[in-house]
Amino acid sequence: MRDTTIIKDIELQPYISSDDLAGKAKALLAQQKGSWELLSKGYKSLESIEVKNFEFEHFKIKVQFNPGRIVSSSAKVDPKSIKERKCFLCPDNLPGDQKGILYKDDYILLCNPFPIFNEHFTIPKTGHVPQEIKSSLPAMLELSRDLSRYYTVFYNGPKCGASAPDHLHFQAGDKGFMPIDSEYCGIRESLGRKIISCNDLQVFAIDRYLGKFFSFESSDSEAIVKAFNSFYNIFSATSPNTGEEPMMNILSFYEDAKWHVLVFPRAKHRPSYFFMEGDDNILLSPASVDMGGVLITPLEKDFNKITRENIVDIFRQVTLQDETFGTIAEKLARLYS
Ligand SMILES: [Zn+2]
Repeated sequence: MRDTTIIKDIELQPYISSDDLAGKAKALLAQQKGSWELLSKGYKSLESIEVKNFEFEHFKIKVQFNPGRIVSSSAKVDPKSIKERKCFLCPDNLPGDQKGILYKDDYILLCNPFPIFNEHFTIPKTGHVPQEIKSSLPAMLELSRDLSRYYTVFYNGPKCGASAPDHLHFQAGDKGFMPIDSEYCGIRESLGRKIISCNDLQVFAIDRYLGKFFSFESSDSEAIVKAFNSFYNIFSATSPNTGEEPMMNILSFYEDAKWHVLVFPRAKHRPSYFFMEGDDNILLSPASVDMGGVLITPLEKDFNKITRENIVDIFRQVTLQDETFGTIAEKLARLYS
């Protein structure tokens, strides 16, 4: 890695409000907005985005018209296309003005130049290794605790939203931006059920939310990792592509001295609308942020025409069917009974 890629403390100092990683990240963003043109343009264009809300009982879904996301939403992520492009997360390929914060010698925290959030970061591993959650969940948990003052951390599986499936990375965005950040407890109580309560660990199956998910709560990260691994193995066994990571998006936030890890198992990456021709087409590629309640439409035509029925149908298509979800919940619960 070029040593100029890591930002110096002295460059961050004028912007620092707190000395934890969250405070440093916030400072990095302020520094980079002033020194990296692509980033300041990205945030400028964020000022003109449009948002509309769809109210459901117990939660809402926001739709964000964000033209800056066209590259990501329509990205070719097949192995051939990936092989032919230069990896944009490898430290040696970063633009000269892009600086990052080294995290535990293993990850580098960077500002995302195509933001969805008011503050949006990408946190790739320093080395070029594939996107893979099983071995990296412990790191994700630590990261979400260290960023917890301001940010929620998220993970997109290599086949369901990661635009660099060949390079391990997480993302982080300001807390409160996704409706689920503030709605989670209400959703859990109204639309979910507790399936595991064991010492310090609680697991919930939230099966009446639009995007069904499992949530793992504990102050003990090892208990979460162990339960997640059990979930992973059960979910893998239901998926036809053995050997590949089963599709999922994950949100993690640390609050009241415990982790809250929300795992959205996916049935498919892109809904049928993505592939339709003419008026029926909606260019929308759901990933973690969409699962958290913010659907991103990079094209204005889609933002204007998307209906409540489309939204319900999109979630129905990309998340697990009731029966599969229920079976996974049952098998997981049985391991702890
Ligand atoms: Zn890379």
